[in-house]
Amino acid sequence: MNPDDQQDLLGLMDAAQTPAGADIVFQRSAKARHYRLTLRRDGTAVATIPLRGSQRGAEQFVAQHAEWLERARSRQAVRPRAAEVWVPGTHVLWRGEMCEIRVASAGERPQVCLAADVFRVPGFEGDLRPTLEAHFARRAKIELPARTWELAALTGVEVKLVAVRNQRSRWGSCSANGTISLNWRLVQTPDFVRDYIIYHELMHLREMNHSERFWARVEEVCPDWRSAERWLKRNGSLLGL
Ligand SMILES: [Zn+2]
Repeated sequence: MNPDDQQDLLGLMDAAQTPAGADIVFQRSAKARHYRLTLRRDGTAVATIPLRGSQRGAEQFVAQHAEWLERARSRQAVRPRAAEVWVPGTHVLWRGEMCEIRVASAGERPQVCLAADVFRVPGFEGDLRPTLEAHFARRAKIELPARTWELAALTGVEVKLVAVRNQRSRWGSCSANGTISLNWRLVQTPDFVRDYIIYHELMHLREMNHSERFWARVEEVCPDWRSAERWLKRNGSLLGL
């Protein structure tokens, strides 16, 4: 048994260098049929070695795909990522700004603040993210429908129902019966971005498509929709979208 085989049997990972100088982790998989190269969100590249493959084969595969990896890395580098675990000192997106989580009060009623907003937390040990996101979602359930009714009245669009949802892949949607669904994460975006999404869905109740007519209607009620789209493209990854 050579040292390479032993490492594979133990399931250990081996770091190597690509010509681009990036770290690669080699991982053997009994299920994999082919060599595979993936880039994890944390920036680690993983080369999967199939059952009948070899370390050398994987290295060749990585070398063949060095250009792809370089492109994937540079794409990832320009997409900002939110911190996974939130503790005092972490910066999180709140109302369009990156705000530091600060301890507002300790003791019996532990609280943190984000800019001018204060939130109850169970304590300062561990991850504050589930607690804070639950607070955000609660605020969203109050604020987003209120804003939607306001803009619906302003534009004269008839809305039947506004739902606030935990959507992972979209900011908003609507159905022909007049229901608008909004992603609660819109309370984390700047006001003009939140408004744009609401206008966008409102205009869909007039034009159920993305035709020129639809965009002309959006333009009419929300002239800065382009900068809102730009903001979402640049910062959506901070909110996992
Ligand atoms: Zn649309």
